[in-house]
Amino acid sequence: MAGDAALVTQVVEQFGRDRGRLMDIARALHAKLGCLTEDTIGDVADALGMRRVQVRDMVSFYAFFSRRPKGKTVIRLCDAVPERMKGAEEVARAFEEALGIKVGETTPDGAITIEHAPCIGLSDQAPGALIGATPVTNLTPADAPKIVQALQDGKDIATLPQAEVDLNLRKPGPVIFAPMERGTAIRAAVNRKPEEVIAEMNKSRLRGRGGAGFPTAMKWDFCRKAKGNARYLICNADEGEPGTFKDRVILTECPDLLFEGMTVAGYALGAKEGLLYLRGEYEYLLPHLDQVLAKRRHLGLLGKNIVGCEGFDFDIRIQLGAGAYICGEESALIESLEGKRGAPRDRPPFPVQKGYKNQPTSVNNVETLCCAARVLEMGGDWFAAMGTRDSTGTKLLSVSGDCKHPGVYELEYGITVEKLLEMVGAEDAQAVQVGGPSGQCVAPKDFGRSISFEDLPTGGSIIVFGPKRDLLECMRQFIEFFVEESCGWCVPCRVGTTILSKQLAKILDGRGTRADVQEMEKVANTVKTMSRCGLGQTAANPILSTLRSFPGLYEARLKKDDFVPPFDLKAALAEGCAITGKQPVLED
Ligand code: SF4
Repeated sequence: MAGDAALVTQVVEQFGRDRGRLMDIARALHAKLGCLTEDTIGDVADALGMRRVQVRDMVSFYAFFSRRPKGKTVIRLCDAVPERMKGAEEVARAFEEALGIKVGETTPDGAITIEHAPCIGLSDQAPGALIGATPVTNLTPADAPKIVQALQDGKDIATLPQAEVDLNLRKPGPVIFAPMERGTAIRAAVNRKPEEVIAEMNKSRLRGRGGAGFPTAMKWDFCRKAKGNARYLICNADEGEPGTFKDRVILTECPDLLFEGMTVAGYALGAKEGLLYLRGEYEYLLPHLDQVLAKRRHLGLLGKNIVGCEGFDFDIRIQLGAGAYICGEESALIESLEGKRGAPRDRPPFPVQKGYKNQPTSVNNVETLCCAARVLEMGGDWFAAMGTRDSTGTKLLSVSGDCKHPGVYELEYGITVEKLLEMVGAEDAQAVQVGGPSGQCVAPKDFGRSISFEDLPTGGSIIVFGPKRDLLECMRQFIEFFVEESCGWCVPCRVGTTILSKQLAKILDGRGTRADVQEMEKVANTVKTMSRCGLGQTAANPILSTLRSFPGLYEARLKKDDFVPPFDLKAALAEGCAITGKQPVLED
């Protein structure tokens, strides 16, 4: 313990004894110690002058932090719906067999832990997993013993053939994937006043690409005009919606465009500091991103007097997350950046008024900031000429599931679902999930609808369901995801999602009646309308949208009896019967 206390002191010093860097401190200690025990938590609290409960509260929130020792290597097997569609469950069984343990357990020698993970951003090459921080893709059950052997032989996992991540950029478009010389957008910005940069953004009618579609110019304007001692620009690179992986492709292929956009935003806002919140699952991208940042500093595109513009000082820091879907919500992300648990804040005040460190803050999506850089380079009119009236420009779509060509597509807004399905090789789809689990399940009768803010908005996730899929089972797995990811703050979301999961399971088990479906719809509407943040407000969408578009699927699963109890009495009594050796007499 004495050794750990010394290590804690050293790590806390490394981060300037700054409580706001608790996430980094916890990450660094976890990497060295393999877990954060109660003793370590106490040492951290003492070193930072915090209460032990505050540190424990934060640590217990994130999936990547464990308070009990885990294996030296942790294998995180993605079990998101697109992964399960491609055989993730069989791969998990094969790992269990190869290691002689179950998912959630550690080998007796303490070498390897296997666990499930929600989406890790590799649905286009599913099933995928993270071994430590290294991604492995396109796994088959036959890969499991080979990977286990390699780990036992002490081989570097990054050298295995399974550790290939394909770009899968199927259709580059003119906004995100066209080349741009470094510094072009920044020079275009500093030739104008900050207000004129915002006016150019206004001309482009660029809307936030995260899904909600708030006008970027308006957000920047609010932030710029808000009172504060400092302003901050945060880039939200925490794409966690199952089936989304477009940020992975941007961060791999064109990080310069993103940093260009962040710097332009910094200039427009009058911010000196930009923070890129990178999801913990993308840690393997960090060395490359750090290199790009260093190069930009060297070229005078970050730092002091950027591109020779006197007084324009701006730099970017990357903050790694630690596995929490809710941190994609902007106020939860800010809490996480401040080293706390990622619980959403009450609003107002909005982040543009009081955000990071209580100062005016603009939180923008990765794709939005890339668009902003291009708007400065090419002009607002050029950008606004693409797409539809209310959805200008292009949209990156991450396509996965039952299709021939999964990957990233940059397409003008307004494309119909039907055209998209043709493009990705999925003309026989029975349904398409637009916007991930929190979006809409679209039926063939609606394939003429368009991807746009005015019709079918999406942060980018498109999951295709082929004709043989059990669609309602996929919806049940979506609800399970929300049960897991609810931060637990408010009852409608915390309790409601669990009730929905049970109700849907009952129907899928063939024990549901029409009354159960009606009851489930009532609960779903309560979760939607009474939850505190976007997670809860959209968590019931898998049920509500399939009730609307696929009522026949529910009808086909219903039991015809008038009354069915809300639980399976025999199953509930099974354990008691096994212990007592007695069997109750039950009427069927
Ligand atoms: Fe947390 Fe869910 Fe409530 Fe949002 S809606 S605050 S995620 S419990």
